[in-house]
Amino acid sequence: MRGTEKFDVIVVGGGHAGAEAAAAAARMGARTLLATHRLETLGEMSCNPAYGGLGKGHLVREIDALDGLMGRVADLAGIQFRLLNRSKGPAVRGPRAQADRALYRRHMRAALEATENLTILPLAVEDLVLQNARVAGIVAANGQQFLAGAVVMTTGTFLRGLIHIGDEKISAGRHGEAPAIGLSETFQRLGFHLGRLKTGTPPRLDGRTIDWKNLEMQQGDDPPEPFSTLTAAITNPQVACGVTYTTPAMHQIIRENLHKSAMYAGHIQGTGPRYCPSIEDKIVRFADKERHQIFLEPEGLDDNTIYPNGLSTSLPREVQNDYIHAIPGLEKAAILRHGYAIEYDYINPQELKHTLETRRVAGLFLAGQINGTTGYEEAGAQGLVAGINAALLAAGGQKTFTIDRAEAYIGVLIDDLVTRGTTEPYRMFTSRAEYRLTLRADNADQRLTARGMAVGCVGQARTQHFTQKMAVLEEARTLAATLRATPNQLAQQGVRVNRDGVWRSAIDLLGYAEVTMDDLCRIWPDLGQYPPHILSQVETDGRYAGYLKRQDADIAAYRKDEALELPENIDVAAIGGLSAELRAKIKQHQPRSLGAAAKIPGMTPAGLIALLRHVKRRGQAA
Ligand code: FAD
Repeated sequence: MRGTEKFDVIVVGGGHAGAEAAAAAARMGARTLLATHRLETLGEMSCNPAYGGLGKGHLVREIDALDGLMGRVADLAGIQFRLLNRSKGPAVRGPRAQADRALYRRHMRAALEATENLTILPLAVEDLVLQNARVAGIVAANGQQFLAGAVVMTTGTFLRGLIHIGDEKISAGRHGEAPAIGLSETFQRLGFHLGRLKTGTPPRLDGRTIDWKNLEMQQGDDPPEPFSTLTAAITNPQVACGVTYTTPAMHQIIRENLHKSAMYAGHIQGTGPRYCPSIEDKIVRFADKERHQIFLEPEGLDDNTIYPNGLSTSLPREVQNDYIHAIPGLEKAAILRHGYAIEYDYINPQELKHTLETRRVAGLFLAGQINGTTGYEEAGAQGLVAGINAALLAAGGQKTFTIDRAEAYIGVLIDDLVTRGTTEPYRMFTSRAEYRLTLRADNADQRLTARGMAVGCVGQARTQHFTQKMAVLEEARTLAATLRATPNQLAQQGVRVNRDGVWRSAIDLLGYAEVTMDDLCRIWPDLGQYPPHILSQVETDGRYAGYLKRQDADIAAYRKDEALELPENIDVAAIGGLSAELRAKIKQHQPRSLGAAAKIPGMTPAGLIALLRHVKRRGQAA
């Protein structure tokens, strides 16, 4: 294929953001090209072989709710599933799965290849085609041009990627793959603000050389709970992981060699992930801790490679060889591949709108690690939103699709990035969300699928499944609200409430911690006819009804502030009663709503009032 083929949307990069962006744009009906270095690395997990976890599991469920691929593919590739925080409330439970790397790649590639309207080509993209200050296509390293109304960039850790192992430096996007240099220059030429971040990965071990018999083993849940509402059951065999701990002897080896670590020797300029530190960082920062837990996670069913979760490092190879052997169970472990750190360029996400289109170049969208995030789930979530909006723009641009902080963790993620920016790799936590009780992993479909159906990114199978589920759920909710009994009738069934003569519904009774769904099904056998997942949803509704009502009031107040839009170019010099510092911050952040202004770090209530007064006085409120 030579010359200039035309598409509606082009997605550059076939990682986690790119896969979701390309599939979403194609589901929306856009003729989409996915241009990525190699077809063999579609769906490649650069680091840990796992999806989900706290906060991240919510994102996978939300991607699934919008008919994205990650949840379904992780279900097909999953070899150990666990619901984290099971003993805590449903708001902070996080589904997690370890995945077989090869299976994940295979199923992701198959899912992409089966997507209608999607062409996938192995290309190294070097530059953008621009026309009248808007993006019009891409230029590949071989000179080929492809044109499109919108381009989504999802180049991950590849922009001027540089691997560090001790004082070794290797120019690479990740292990064994060339970096993207040309695109970094393109972004710079266009005036984007680039920064440098770093992340790291542990050495990989040969499972046949690990002394498993003396290790604690951790099993997954039985039965495993899938990510996707479309997955009926997990069919892969399930595996256990080993658990071991670092030792004082190992800490000593690291301390003695700290000066050789790329990080501590000063070879790395980029900021690393605070919440996922390297082993050398942990030993320095938590010097009083005698041991750190290490999970030994199999990378696949037919693969002897073990991922020692918790041992990411940029120490030289010989030091890695030494310290591995100081860990119980790993005394004779052979390293298959050494750990490394990687530095790469990212773009300040404050350059983006909530649609993930850049403000600087119309039609150009950015998603994933390029925006300063870390993690497959964060990348996939952004890819999905960018892909939907790219398709909407290519179709004429009358509509956009944004998600707010009260609807989804995806909304929290994008709002945090766009309004606050990030100077370190950003990852999701449940603590980042204000409305946690509403944003549960178990109700992601109820929060998002109808929105996805309305915008056109949800296919037929999910539409049908969701519509049927909601009909049954609504019926069960209505029944639970209608079935009522007096305190005397309840007492006869062994359920004690105040003898005040007030009738109580099944839903009301769920407000009593000691009343279980089993009690209710015993009292009203009609309730027992519903499947467990429907009953569990009704139970959560009932248990949290009071709190949710309060949260709804908070959400209404938040939305009121968000609805108060601010003009694009606020004349900060003219705002009376504002400190020079706050003026500079407003100028830098360019908040688009009063809500966004409130989130500027250091913003004060007085500052907000001054801003609001100024905008109203000028009649500038949009
Ligand atoms: P990627 O998955 O990196 O995909 C980028 C894709 O773009 C690749 O397919 C690449 O080939 C393609 N591409 C790039 N440039 C071009 C171009 N010019 N032309 C065509 N194709 C191009 N996350 C965690 O949550 N925890 C961790 O501990 C962790 N450790 C990591 C360690 C390492 C060494 C690395 C490399 C990553 C690590 N990550 C970690 C990050 C995680 O891998 C990423 O967050 C996630 O993969 C980002 O997804 P993405 O789609 O943005 O980019």
